Amino acid sequence: MLALLGLLLSVAPASCSPLASEGAGGGVVRAFTYPRYTEMQAKIKEWKRRYPTLVHETTLGKTAEGRTIPLLRLGDDAAPDPKKPGVLLVAGIHPRESQPPVCLLWLADELLSGYGKDARITRLMRERQIYLVPVLNVDGKIYDETAQPPKMGQDWRKNRRKTVPGGSSVGVDLNRNFPVRWGGFREKDALWNDRTSRPGANIYEGPASLSEPESKALADFFAAHAGDVRLFVDLHSPLRKILFPNYLHGADADRYATLAAGIRTRQKDRPYASTEIKRDGEPPAGSRPGNTGLSYTYAYYVHGIYGFNIEIGLNDPADETATSGDLAPRHYPPLAGVRAEYEANLREPLLYLIDAAGDLPTSTQKRSPLSPVEMIGTFLPGSTVSLKPSLLEPTGFAVLTSESRLAVIESELRSVPLQTGFTVRIAHDAKPGAEIHFTLTVWDRDRNRSALQFFMNVGRANDTILPKDENKK
Ligand SMILES: [Zn+2]
Repeated sequence: MLALLGLLLSVAPASCSPLASEGAGGGVVRAFTYPRYTEMQAKIKEWKRRYPTLVHETTLGKTAEGRTIPLLRLGDDAAPDPKKPGVLLVAGIHPRESQPPVCLLWLADELLSGYGKDARITRLMRERQIYLVPVLNVDGKIYDETAQPPKMGQDWRKNRRKTVPGGSSVGVDLNRNFPVRWGGFREKDALWNDRTSRPGANIYEGPASLSEPESKALADFFAAHAGDVRLFVDLHSPLRKILFPNYLHGADADRYATLAAGIRTRQKDRPYASTEIKRDGEPPAGSRPGNTGLSYTYAYYVHGIYGFNIEIGLNDPADETATSGDLAPRHYPPLAGVRAEYEANLREPLLYLIDAAGDLPTSTQKRSPLSPVEMIGTFLPGSTVSLKPSLLEPTGFAVLTSESRLAVIESELRSVPLQTGFTVRIAHDAKPGAEIHFTLTVWDRDRNRSALQFFMNVGRANDTILPKDENKK
Protein backbone atom coordinates (compact mmCIF):
# COMPACT_ATOMS: atom_id res chain seq x y z
CA MET A 1 0.00 0.00 0.00
CA LEU A 2 2.74 2.43 0.89
CA ALA A 3 4.66 1.61 -2.26
CA LEU A 4 1.55 2.34 -4.27
CA LEU A 5 1.08 5.62 -2.47
CA GLY A 6 4.62 6.58 -3.36
CA LEU A 7 3.65 6.23 -6.98
CA LEU A 8 0.43 8.14 -6.51
CA LEU A 9 2.26 11.00 -4.98
CA SER A 10 5.06 10.93 -7.49
CA VAL A 11 5.75 14.29 -9.05
CA ALA A 12 6.54 12.76 -12.43
CA PRO A 13 4.52 14.25 -15.29
CA ALA A 14 1.28 12.38 -15.93
CA SER A 15 2.42 11.42 -19.40
CA CYS A 16 5.21 9.23 -18.08
CA SER A 17 3.70 8.38 -14.72
CA PRO A 18 2.61 4.82 -13.95
CA LEU A 19 -0.84 6.34 -13.48
CA ALA A 20 -1.20 7.31 -17.09
CA SER A 21 -2.60 3.97 -18.14
CA GLU A 22 -5.06 3.84 -15.30
CA GLY A 23 -8.60 3.73 -16.65
CA ALA A 24 -7.31 3.71 -20.20
CA GLY A 25 -8.86 0.34 -20.91
CA GLY A 26 -12.28 1.87 -20.59
CA GLY A 27 -13.27 -0.80 -18.09
CA VAL A 28 -16.71 -0.63 -16.59
CA VAL A 29 -15.44 -0.78 -13.03
CA ARG A 30 -12.35 1.11 -11.95
CA ALA A 31 -10.25 0.04 -9.03
CA PHE A 32 -10.20 2.45 -6.12
CA THR A 33 -6.84 4.11 -6.69
CA TYR A 34 -7.14 7.15 -4.45
CA PRO A 35 -5.03 7.12 -1.32
CA ARG A 36 -7.06 6.07 1.69
CA TYR A 37 -6.97 8.07 4.88
CA THR A 38 -4.52 5.69 6.56
CA GLU A 39 -2.19 6.11 3.58
CA MET A 40 -2.42 9.88 3.90
CA GLN A 41 -1.46 9.57 7.57
CA ALA A 42 1.46 7.35 6.56
CA LYS A 43 2.49 9.95 4.00
CA ILE A 44 2.55 12.68 6.66
CA LYS A 45 4.65 10.42 8.87
CA GLU A 46 7.05 9.80 6.01
CA TRP A 47 7.40 13.53 5.34
CA LYS A 48 8.14 14.19 8.99
CA ARG A 49 10.90 11.59 8.83
CA ARG A 50 12.37 12.84 5.55
CA TYR A 51 11.94 16.58 6.13
CA PRO A 52 11.99 17.04 9.92
CA THR A 53 12.89 20.74 9.68
CA LEU A 54 10.19 21.54 7.10
CA VAL A 55 7.08 19.65 8.28
CA HIS A 56 5.45 20.66 11.54
CA GLU A 57 2.35 18.72 12.52
CA THR A 58 -0.19 19.84 15.08
CA THR A 59 -3.94 19.37 15.24
CA LEU A 60 -6.68 21.68 14.09
CA GLY A 61 -9.16 20.11 16.50
CA LYS A 62 -11.29 17.01 16.96
CA THR A 63 -14.03 15.51 14.84
CA ALA A 64 -17.52 14.55 15.97
CA GLU A 65 -16.33 10.98 16.44
CA GLY A 66 -13.28 12.09 18.43
CA ARG A 67 -10.56 11.79 15.81
CA THR A 68 -7.86 14.44 15.53
CA ILE A 69 -7.76 16.66 12.44
CA PRO A 70 -4.14 16.98 11.29
CA LEU A 71 -2.83 20.49 10.67
CA LEU A 72 0.52 20.83 8.92
CA ARG A 73 2.73 23.86 8.76
CA LEU A 74 5.29 23.77 5.98
CA GLY A 75 8.27 26.07 6.17
CA ASP A 76 11.80 26.17 7.51
CA ASP A 77 11.00 27.98 10.76
CA ALA A 78 11.12 25.70 13.78
CA ALA A 79 8.27 27.65 15.38
CA PRO A 80 5.45 29.63 13.76
CA ASP A 81 6.53 33.14 12.82
CA PRO A 82 3.44 35.36 12.75
CA LYS A 83 5.42 38.14 11.07
CA LYS A 84 5.55 36.05 7.89
CA PRO A 85 2.45 36.04 5.68
CA GLY A 86 0.42 32.90 6.25
CA VAL A 87 -1.74 30.89 3.88
CA LEU A 88 -4.22 28.16 4.82
CA LEU A 89 -5.13 25.46 2.31
CA VAL A 90 -7.96 23.10 3.26
CA ALA A 91 -9.41 20.05 1.52
CA GLY A 92 -11.85 17.34 2.39
CA ILE A 93 -14.75 19.32 3.88
CA HIS A 94 -16.93 17.23 1.55
CA PRO A 95 -15.61 13.65 1.72
CA ARG A 96 -16.95 12.38 -1.59
CA GLU A 97 -15.01 15.12 -3.38
CA SER A 98 -11.96 12.92 -3.52
CA GLN A 99 -9.83 15.09 -5.79
CA PRO A 100 -8.91 18.00 -3.45
CA PRO A 101 -7.11 16.01 -0.71
CA VAL A 102 -4.90 14.20 -3.17
CA CYS A 103 -4.07 17.50 -4.91
CA LEU A 104 -2.98 19.00 -1.58
CA LEU A 105 -0.75 15.98 -0.99
CA TRP A 106 0.81 16.48 -4.40
CA LEU A 107 1.40 20.14 -3.69
CA ALA A 108 2.96 19.41 -0.30
CA ASP A 109 5.20 16.79 -1.87
CA GLU A 110 6.43 19.34 -4.41
CA LEU A 111 6.99 22.03 -1.79
CA LEU A 112 9.02 19.65 0.36
CA SER A 113 11.04 17.97 -2.36
CA GLY A 114 11.63 21.31 -4.11
CA TYR A 115 13.07 23.03 -1.06
CA GLY A 116 16.75 23.72 -1.63
CA LYS A 117 16.48 22.74 -5.30
CA ASP A 118 13.88 25.03 -6.85
CA ALA A 119 14.52 28.74 -6.21
CA ARG A 120 10.86 29.78 -6.17
CA ILE A 121 9.76 26.98 -3.87
CA THR A 122 12.69 27.55 -1.53
CA ARG A 123 11.75 31.22 -1.30
CA LEU A 124 8.09 30.43 -0.57
CA MET A 125 9.08 27.92 2.11
CA ARG A 126 11.29 30.57 3.71
CA GLU A 127 9.04 33.60 3.43
CA ARG A 128 5.59 32.13 4.06
CA GLN A 129 3.82 30.10 6.70
CA ILE A 130 2.01 27.45 4.65
CA TYR A 131 -0.71 25.74 6.66
CA LEU A 132 -2.36 22.63 5.24
CA VAL A 133 -5.40 20.65 6.34
CA PRO A 134 -5.44 17.77 3.83
CA VAL A 135 -8.71 16.35 5.19
CA LEU A 136 -10.93 18.45 7.44
CA ASN A 137 -13.82 16.01 7.62
CA VAL A 138 -11.85 12.96 8.74
CA ASP A 139 -14.88 10.98 9.96
CA GLY A 140 -16.70 11.55 6.69
CA LYS A 141 -13.65 10.55 4.67
CA ILE A 142 -13.22 7.30 6.59
CA TYR A 143 -16.92 6.55 6.22
CA ASP A 144 -16.83 7.31 2.50
CA GLU A 145 -14.09 4.70 2.13
CA THR A 146 -16.28 1.93 3.52
CA ALA A 147 -17.96 1.55 0.12
CA GLN A 148 -17.59 -1.87 -1.47
CA PRO A 149 -16.76 -2.31 -5.17
CA PRO A 150 -18.13 -1.50 -7.64
CA LYS A 151 -18.99 1.65 -5.70
CA MET A 152 -16.06 4.06 -5.55
CA GLY A 153 -17.21 5.66 -2.34
CA GLN A 154 -20.31 6.17 -0.21
CA ASP A 155 -21.01 9.45 -2.05
CA TRP A 156 -20.89 11.06 1.41
CA ARG A 157 -20.92 14.86 1.73
CA LYS A 158 -21.55 15.64 5.42
CA ASN A 159 -19.83 14.98 8.73
CA ARG A 160 -20.83 11.97 10.84
CA ARG A 161 -22.52 13.45 13.90
CA LYS A 162 -25.88 11.95 14.79
CA THR A 163 -27.98 15.10 14.61
CA VAL A 164 -31.32 13.54 15.46
CA PRO A 165 -31.70 11.54 18.70
CA GLY A 166 -31.71 7.84 17.98
CA GLY A 167 -29.38 8.29 15.05
CA SER A 168 -32.10 8.46 12.42
CA SER A 169 -30.27 11.29 10.70
CA VAL A 170 -26.53 11.65 10.40
CA GLY A 171 -24.40 14.55 9.40
CA VAL A 172 -24.24 18.28 8.78
CA ASP A 173 -22.92 19.88 5.60
CA LEU A 174 -19.91 21.63 7.14
CA ASN A 175 -19.89 24.11 4.28
CA ARG A 176 -23.38 25.30 5.21
CA ASN A 177 -22.55 25.59 8.93
CA PHE A 178 -20.56 28.85 9.04
CA PRO A 179 -22.25 31.94 10.51
CA VAL A 180 -22.39 34.31 7.53
CA ARG A 181 -25.95 34.12 6.16
CA TRP A 182 -26.34 30.80 7.94
CA GLY A 183 -29.77 29.23 7.40
CA GLY A 184 -30.48 31.25 4.26
CA PHE A 185 -32.14 28.46 2.31
CA ARG A 186 -34.63 27.07 4.78
CA GLU A 187 -37.53 27.23 2.37
CA LYS A 188 -35.98 25.96 -0.79
CA ASP A 189 -32.62 25.71 -2.47
CA ALA A 190 -33.66 25.42 -6.09
CA LEU A 191 -30.31 24.05 -7.25
CA TRP A 192 -30.44 21.20 -4.77
CA ASN A 193 -34.22 20.93 -4.70
CA ASP A 194 -33.95 20.68 -0.94
CA ARG A 195 -33.95 22.71 2.27
CA THR A 196 -30.88 23.52 4.38
CA SER A 197 -33.06 23.04 7.48
CA ARG A 198 -33.94 19.40 6.71
CA PRO A 199 -31.65 17.11 8.76
CA GLY A 200 -31.68 14.45 6.06
CA ALA A 201 -30.66 16.90 3.33
CA ASN A 202 -27.19 16.73 1.82
CA ILE A 203 -27.00 20.48 2.47
CA TYR A 204 -28.22 20.35 6.10
CA GLU A 205 -27.08 23.53 7.84
CA GLY A 206 -26.98 22.05 11.38
CA PRO A 207 -28.90 23.03 14.53
CA ALA A 208 -26.88 26.25 14.98
CA SER A 209 -24.04 27.97 13.17
CA LEU A 210 -20.69 26.40 14.11
CA SER A 211 -22.57 23.56 15.81
CA GLU A 212 -20.08 21.04 14.43
CA PRO A 213 -16.64 20.44 15.93
CA GLU A 214 -14.99 20.41 12.49
CA SER A 215 -16.35 23.80 11.37
CA LYS A 216 -15.75 25.22 14.86
CA ALA A 217 -12.12 24.06 14.70
CA LEU A 218 -11.65 25.93 11.42
CA ALA A 219 -13.39 29.02 12.81
CA ASP A 220 -11.08 28.94 15.86
CA PHE A 221 -8.09 28.79 13.53
CA PHE A 222 -9.34 31.87 11.65
CA ALA A 223 -9.82 33.74 14.93
CA ALA A 224 -6.36 32.78 16.20
CA HIS A 225 -4.61 33.59 12.92
CA ALA A 226 -6.49 36.67 11.67
CA GLY A 227 -3.33 38.70 12.27
CA ASP A 228 -0.97 36.49 10.26
CA VAL A 229 -2.89 34.26 7.85
CA ARG A 230 -3.79 36.48 4.90
CA LEU A 231 -5.36 34.00 2.52
CA PHE A 232 -7.46 30.84 2.75
CA VAL A 233 -8.27 28.37 -0.02
CA ASP A 234 -11.00 25.78 0.47
CA LEU A 235 -10.56 23.17 -2.25
CA HIS A 236 -13.65 21.47 -3.62
CA SER A 237 -14.67 19.59 -6.77
CA PRO A 238 -15.89 19.13 -9.51
CA LEU A 239 -17.37 22.42 -10.76
CA ARG A 240 -14.31 24.09 -12.36
CA LYS A 241 -14.97 27.42 -10.66
CA ILE A 242 -13.15 30.10 -8.69
CA LEU A 243 -15.51 31.30 -5.98
CA PHE A 244 -15.13 34.14 -3.47
CA PRO A 245 -17.32 36.74 -1.74
CA ASN A 246 -19.05 38.78 -4.45
CA TYR A 247 -19.92 41.98 -2.55
CA LEU A 248 -16.61 43.77 -2.06
CA HIS A 249 -15.74 47.27 -0.95
CA GLY A 250 -12.96 49.71 -1.75
CA ALA A 251 -9.46 48.37 -2.35
CA ASP A 252 -10.54 44.81 -1.53
CA ALA A 253 -12.58 44.66 -4.74
CA ASP A 254 -9.39 45.41 -6.66
CA ARG A 255 -7.35 42.94 -4.62
CA TYR A 256 -9.82 40.14 -5.27
CA ALA A 257 -10.01 41.02 -8.98
CA THR A 258 -6.21 40.86 -9.21
CA LEU A 259 -6.06 37.51 -7.43
CA ALA A 260 -8.83 35.97 -9.57
CA ALA A 261 -7.12 37.18 -12.75
CA GLY A 262 -3.81 35.86 -11.44
CA ILE A 263 -5.32 32.42 -10.95
CA ARG A 264 -6.96 32.38 -14.38
CA THR A 265 -3.89 33.48 -16.32
CA ARG A 266 -2.04 30.53 -14.78
CA GLN A 267 -4.65 27.99 -15.85
CA LYS A 268 -3.58 26.38 -19.11
CA ASP A 269 -6.60 24.25 -19.95
CA ARG A 270 -9.75 26.41 -20.17
CA PRO A 271 -9.48 28.78 -17.18
CA TYR A 272 -12.29 28.36 -14.67
CA ALA A 273 -15.19 30.78 -14.45
CA SER A 274 -14.90 33.07 -11.46
CA THR A 275 -17.24 34.99 -9.19
CA GLU A 276 -18.49 38.30 -10.56
CA ILE A 277 -17.55 41.16 -8.27
CA LYS A 278 -20.21 43.67 -7.19
CA ARG A 279 -18.23 46.72 -6.20
CA ASP A 280 -19.20 48.81 -3.20
CA GLY A 281 -22.69 47.35 -3.30
CA GLU A 282 -24.83 45.36 -0.96
CA PRO A 283 -27.34 42.56 -1.39
CA PRO A 284 -30.94 43.69 -1.80
CA ALA A 285 -33.08 43.78 1.32
CA GLY A 286 -34.78 40.49 2.01
CA SER A 287 -34.12 37.14 0.49
CA ARG A 288 -31.55 36.73 -2.26
CA PRO A 289 -30.03 33.80 -4.14
CA GLY A 290 -26.59 32.44 -3.36
CA ASN A 291 -25.21 29.88 -0.98
CA THR A 292 -25.30 30.25 2.75
CA GLY A 293 -23.04 29.37 5.64
CA LEU A 294 -19.88 29.03 3.55
CA SER A 295 -16.32 28.80 4.85
CA TYR A 296 -14.81 31.47 2.61
CA THR A 297 -17.47 34.15 3.17
CA TYR A 298 -17.01 33.67 6.91
CA ALA A 299 -13.20 33.82 6.66
CA TYR A 300 -13.39 37.09 4.76
CA TYR A 301 -16.38 38.99 6.16
CA VAL A 302 -15.80 38.15 9.82
CA HIS A 303 -12.03 37.58 10.09
CA GLY A 304 -10.68 39.59 7.15
CA ILE A 305 -8.83 36.60 5.66
CA TYR A 306 -9.12 36.63 1.85
CA GLY A 307 -11.11 33.47 1.17
CA PHE A 308 -11.53 31.37 -1.96
CA ASN A 309 -13.25 28.16 -2.91
CA ILE A 310 -11.50 26.62 -5.89
CA GLU A 311 -13.59 23.85 -7.44
CA ILE A 312 -11.34 21.63 -9.48
CA GLY A 313 -12.84 19.33 -12.08
CA LEU A 314 -11.83 17.43 -15.16
CA ASN A 315 -12.20 18.89 -18.61
CA ASP A 316 -13.25 15.52 -19.95
CA PRO A 317 -16.82 14.73 -20.94
CA ALA A 318 -16.00 11.00 -20.93
CA ASP A 319 -15.42 11.22 -17.23
CA GLU A 320 -18.93 12.51 -16.70
CA THR A 321 -20.41 9.42 -18.30
CA ALA A 322 -18.01 6.86 -16.81
CA THR A 323 -19.80 3.89 -15.31
CA SER A 324 -18.56 3.17 -11.85
CA GLY A 325 -21.56 1.38 -10.41
CA ASP A 326 -22.24 4.57 -8.51
CA LEU A 327 -24.08 7.73 -9.41
CA ALA A 328 -21.13 9.95 -8.71
CA PRO A 329 -18.37 9.38 -11.29
CA ARG A 330 -17.70 13.12 -11.11
CA HIS A 331 -16.56 12.67 -7.53
CA TYR A 332 -14.25 9.73 -8.22
CA PRO A 333 -12.74 10.30 -11.67
CA PRO A 334 -9.64 8.40 -12.83
CA LEU A 335 -6.67 9.59 -10.84
CA ALA A 336 -4.55 10.14 -13.94
CA GLY A 337 -7.08 12.71 -15.08
CA VAL A 338 -6.95 14.45 -11.71
CA ARG A 339 -3.17 14.60 -11.96
CA ALA A 340 -3.37 16.15 -15.41
CA GLU A 341 -5.91 18.70 -14.16
CA TYR A 342 -3.72 19.51 -11.18
CA GLU A 343 -0.76 20.14 -13.46
CA ALA A 344 -2.74 22.23 -15.95
CA ASN A 345 -4.98 24.25 -13.69
CA LEU A 346 -4.17 24.00 -10.00
CA ARG A 347 -0.47 23.79 -9.11
CA GLU A 348 0.54 27.16 -10.56
CA PRO A 349 -2.54 28.99 -9.23
CA LEU A 350 -1.86 27.66 -5.72
CA LEU A 351 1.83 28.58 -5.83
CA TYR A 352 0.79 32.00 -7.13
CA LEU A 353 -1.66 32.49 -4.25
CA ILE A 354 0.94 31.44 -1.67
CA ASP A 355 3.26 34.03 -3.16
CA ALA A 356 0.59 36.74 -3.56
CA ALA A 357 -0.42 36.46 0.10
CA GLY A 358 2.66 38.54 0.83
CA ASP A 359 1.04 41.54 -0.87
CA LEU A 360 -2.20 41.29 1.10
CA PRO A 361 -2.81 43.36 4.22
CA THR A 362 -3.87 41.86 7.51
CA SER A 363 -6.73 43.26 9.49
CA THR A 364 -6.60 44.79 12.91
CA GLN A 365 -9.09 44.83 15.70
CA LYS A 366 -9.90 48.12 17.37
CA ARG A 367 -12.30 49.68 19.81
CA SER A 368 -15.89 49.49 18.82
CA PRO A 369 -17.28 52.49 16.92
CA LEU A 370 -20.76 51.23 17.68
CA SER A 371 -23.67 52.73 19.45
CA PRO A 372 -27.08 51.24 20.26
CA VAL A 373 -28.95 49.26 17.62
CA GLU A 374 -32.31 50.52 16.47
CA MET A 375 -34.92 47.92 15.65
CA ILE A 376 -37.79 48.61 13.28
CA GLY A 377 -40.63 46.11 13.42
CA THR A 378 -41.72 43.58 15.96
CA PHE A 379 -39.70 40.55 16.91
CA LEU A 380 -42.63 38.17 16.51
CA PRO A 381 -42.44 34.54 15.42
CA GLY A 382 -42.58 34.37 11.61
CA SER A 383 -42.09 38.11 11.13
CA THR A 384 -39.41 40.01 9.26
CA VAL A 385 -37.71 42.94 10.97
CA SER A 386 -35.04 45.45 10.11
CA LEU A 387 -32.08 46.03 12.42
CA LYS A 388 -30.27 49.30 11.92
CA PRO A 389 -27.20 49.93 14.06
CA SER A 390 -26.01 53.50 14.44
CA LEU A 391 -22.34 53.57 13.55
CA LEU A 392 -20.05 56.34 14.70
CA GLU A 393 -17.64 55.94 11.78
CA PRO A 394 -19.28 56.49 8.40
CA THR A 395 -17.19 54.32 6.05
CA GLY A 396 -16.68 50.69 5.12
CA PHE A 397 -19.17 47.88 5.53
CA ALA A 398 -20.94 45.92 8.23
CA VAL A 399 -21.79 42.23 8.51
CA LEU A 400 -24.45 40.79 10.79
CA THR A 401 -24.41 37.16 11.90
CA SER A 402 -26.50 35.26 14.40
CA GLU A 403 -25.61 32.33 16.56
CA SER A 404 -29.27 31.40 16.92
CA ARG A 405 -31.44 29.06 14.89
CA LEU A 406 -34.33 31.46 15.61
CA ALA A 407 -33.13 34.18 13.24
CA VAL A 408 -32.22 34.10 9.57
CA ILE A 409 -30.28 37.13 8.38
CA GLU A 410 -31.30 37.39 4.78
CA SER A 411 -29.05 40.25 3.75
CA GLU A 412 -25.98 39.89 5.90
CA LEU A 413 -23.92 42.71 4.43
CA ARG A 414 -24.55 46.47 4.43
CA SER A 415 -22.52 49.37 3.11
CA VAL A 416 -21.74 52.06 5.67
CA PRO A 417 -23.38 54.52 6.19
CA LEU A 418 -26.38 52.29 6.45
CA GLN A 419 -29.19 53.31 4.16
CA THR A 420 -31.22 50.23 4.95
CA GLY A 421 -31.05 47.95 7.94
CA PHE A 422 -30.31 44.25 8.05
CA THR A 423 -33.30 42.11 7.16
CA VAL A 424 -33.90 39.46 9.80
CA ARG A 425 -36.59 36.80 9.67
CA ILE A 426 -37.73 35.30 12.97
CA ALA A 427 -38.45 31.57 13.08
CA HIS A 428 -42.09 30.53 13.33
CA ASP A 429 -41.39 28.40 16.38
CA ALA A 430 -39.56 31.13 18.35
CA LYS A 431 -41.05 31.33 21.85
CA PRO A 432 -41.94 34.75 23.34
CA GLY A 433 -39.11 35.95 25.54
CA ALA A 434 -36.48 33.75 23.90
CA GLU A 435 -33.12 35.48 23.42
CA ILE A 436 -31.68 35.79 19.93
CA HIS A 437 -27.99 36.64 19.92
CA PHE A 438 -26.26 38.58 17.15
CA THR A 439 -22.74 39.61 16.27
CA LEU A 440 -22.12 42.73 14.25
CA THR A 441 -18.73 43.06 12.57
CA VAL A 442 -17.88 46.49 11.17
CA TRP A 443 -15.00 47.18 8.79
CA ASP A 444 -13.59 50.60 8.06
CA ARG A 445 -11.75 51.49 4.88
CA ASP A 446 -8.36 50.66 6.40
CA ARG A 447 -9.42 47.11 7.26
CA ASN A 448 -9.86 47.85 10.93
CA ARG A 449 -12.49 45.61 12.43
CA SER A 450 -14.80 46.11 15.38
CA ALA A 451 -17.21 43.53 16.72
CA LEU A 452 -20.25 43.97 18.87
CA GLN A 453 -22.55 41.38 20.38
CA PHE A 454 -26.12 42.03 21.41
CA PHE A 455 -29.35 40.14 21.82
CA MET A 456 -33.07 40.61 21.25
CA ASN A 457 -35.98 39.06 23.05
CA VAL A 458 -38.73 37.57 20.93
CA GLY A 459 -41.85 39.70 21.33
CA ARG A 460 -40.17 43.09 21.66
CA ALA A 461 -41.14 45.85 19.22
CA ASN A 462 -39.60 49.04 17.75
CA ASP A 463 -36.91 49.23 20.31
CA THR A 464 -33.40 50.32 21.02
CA ILE A 465 -30.95 47.62 22.04
CA LEU A 466 -27.87 48.33 24.05
CA PRO A 467 -24.72 46.39 23.30
CA LYS A 468 -24.27 43.62 25.81
CA ASP A 469 -20.51 43.78 25.75
CA GLU A 470 -18.74 46.69 24.13
CA ASN A 471 -15.35 45.86 22.63
CA LYS A 472 -15.83 42.14 22.82
CA LYS A 473 -12.49 40.54 22.06
ZN1 LIG B 1 -17.73 20.72 -2.02
